[in-house]
Amino acid sequence: MKHKILYLVVALAVLFGAAWGLIHQIEKAEAKARVTACLENLRCIGQAIKSYRDQNDGRYPPNLQALYPKYLEDRRGLRCPGYCPDTPTNSDAVSYMYFKADASISNRQIIVRDAPASHREMHGAAVLYANGEYEWIKDE
Ligand SMILES: [Zn+2]
Repeated sequence: MKHKILYLVVALAVLFGAAWGLIHQIEKAEAKARVTACLENLRCIGQAIKSYRDQNDGRYPPNLQALYPKYLEDRRGLRCPGYCPDTPTNSDAVSYMYFKADASISNRQIIVRDAPASHREMHGAAVLYANGEYEWIKDE
């Protein structure tokens, strides 16, 4: 009888550990997917800013909302999928930070980046440079 109970306890512990590991792996995969979707948003925002500038004498848009709907079809693209604010906000809200530039900006200057409350579990931020390149940068 004692052996059966011990066996049951060990089996439950192993099952619990496996389930815990699986949940952790799924959460990690979901977080990575949110980073991928976020980088796709920045790619689209970069193209939209380029189109805006092409049609506005090289000027940058006054804010990111100015891109919708003429240059950016889907307004949801202005909100990071990894953005989790402490207080719930309108799902149409813009989550990305925009640093308005002028024509003299350097190519490697960041013009759009994730807000600090984005991708907390990934310890980094997606950024868009003035030249249209975008990447994930790790926190230092
Ligand atoms: Zn993001």
